[in-house]
Amino acid sequence: MSNFDVIVLGSGPGGYVTAIRAAQLGFKTAVVEKESLGGVCLNWGCIPTKALLKSAQVFEYLKHAEDYGLNAKKVEHDFDAVVKRSRGVADGMSKGIQFLMKKNKIEVLNGFGKIQPGKKILVKGEHGDTAEYSANHIIIATGARSRELPSLQQDGKKVIGYREAMSLDKQPKKMIVVGSGAIGVEFAYFYNSMGTEVTVVEYLPNIVPVEDQDVSKQLERSFKKAGIKIKTSAEVTHVDTSGDGVKATIKTSKGEEILEADVVLSAVGIKTNIENIGLEDVGIAVDRDKILVNDYYQTNIPGYYAIGDVTPGQALAHVASAEGILCVEKIAGMHVEALDYGNIPGCTYCIPEVASVGLTEKQAKEQGYDIKVGKFPFSASGKAKAAGTPDGFVKVIFDSKYGEWLGCHMIGVGVTDMIAEAVVARKLETTGHEILKAVHPHPTMSEAVMEAVADAYDEVIHL
Ligand SMILES: Cc1cc2nc3c(=O)[nH]c(=O)nc-3n(C[C@H](O)[C@H](O)[C@H](O)COP(=O)(O)OP(=O)(O)OC[C@H]3O[C@@H](n4cnc5c(N)ncnc54)[C@H](O)[C@@H]3O)c2cc1C
Repeated sequence: MSNFDVIVLGSGPGGYVTAIRAAQLGFKTAVVEKESLGGVCLNWGCIPTKALLKSAQVFEYLKHAEDYGLNAKKVEHDFDAVVKRSRGVADGMSKGIQFLMKKNKIEVLNGFGKIQPGKKILVKGEHGDTAEYSANHIIIATGARSRELPSLQQDGKKVIGYREAMSLDKQPKKMIVVGSGAIGVEFAYFYNSMGTEVTVVEYLPNIVPVEDQDVSKQLERSFKKAGIKIKTSAEVTHVDTSGDGVKATIKTSKGEEILEADVVLSAVGIKTNIENIGLEDVGIAVDRDKILVNDYYQTNIPGYYAIGDVTPGQALAHVASAEGILCVEKIAGMHVEALDYGNIPGCTYCIPEVASVGLTEKQAKEQGYDIKVGKFPFSASGKAKAAGTPDGFVKVIFDSKYGEWLGCHMIGVGVTDMIAEAVVARKLETTGHEILKAVHPHPTMSEAVMEAVADAYDEVIHL
């Protein structure tokens, strides 16, 4: 039996980043993985979807070439080639992780890992061979998969999850997307751009329901303008897959209707991978499907830790990575500060993109803050006008009393690269005053942040 200082179970952005940081800190480290290195993020999530979305965005630009004074007649797309490019990007990223594992002298143990009492892990290879390993510290980072609703069981063909949605061999003519969180709206945008007739069905009253309501409304307007049909406060109660396509029964306050499509994409959230990994044998506490941990990701059993999607907190790649780094730094005896879950940015990469951090206007009011709100539309931004992308805005929320930057909400082209300004500023406890006095480059989309802050303080220039 090989002994390690640290064994990480799962190699997603939680697991592989944890392993690298552990190795950097001098720990003899191994990572156990049953599929390709990189987890959902690199293989079936963040990266391949962004590759698909880039193809859609380029296609949209070409379709609207005339708006830019260009002539690109007969622009066509090759769906297979678009999917192939995305898979190629994902494969390349996974190979990059293999390189990083080697570079950091991390042992990769291929197979299904099951934790055991006494800080051991049993790894079962694909041919049924088993091997046992032990470690001083075992970090569980087994992630999550697509959640299935009882009324929407996935068969992988007509009712599909995100994995199938990014690797279909034939483009559907009609698609129903159930759920309008980041995953749902990204696929809705992609397929609509490719020419599929898309209907989004959302249970709550707004699409992208975790975002500020102004952002949700703007995205709904942009999507409708692009031809995407949207049904909010609507529930899929039944799907009939017996015919050629799918018939989905949709219930709204107005009654029931049946929508027909080639496929239904279920994008209703995630289900953690906690089954058969030995949690019960070791006695690790789980609540509502998530492994319970403290601020340093220690479970209730000493020597066992958990990070990433398998724990409570936002299910995002950057959260998983940050948790893993913090977890091993604490193990190494470093002085670490607990993660501030109130300052985690969330991004959605459809066009227009959505990015936000902190409280929405509604949340700030509910929490009793007296607030100052500023908003700057991209229609007043020289850079956005020149780029031909004037849809969207930046909205900022400050506490009137102490000037704390409570929240920042953006929608528009490129905003996912702009939100970091608000994250850093909030981390440094910056007030609107410093943002106003920090000169932003012209012409850039980022000027909209400065102008939105100026608007909050009645000093806006370009409105
Ligand atoms: C379509 C889609 C798009 C997304 N886009 C974004 C985005 O743009 N930005 C963002 O921040 N997040 C995005 N996410 C979310 C992001 O992918 C996850 O939050 C992130 O991957 C979680 O990382 P993790 O390390 O916790 O788990 P995972 O990435 O799920 O990795 C877990 C790994 O553990 C392995 N594993 C599980 N059980 C075992 C076992 N018993 N033995 C061995 N190996 C095991 C799995 O095979 C997997 O490789 C997206 C998700 C999806 C589905």
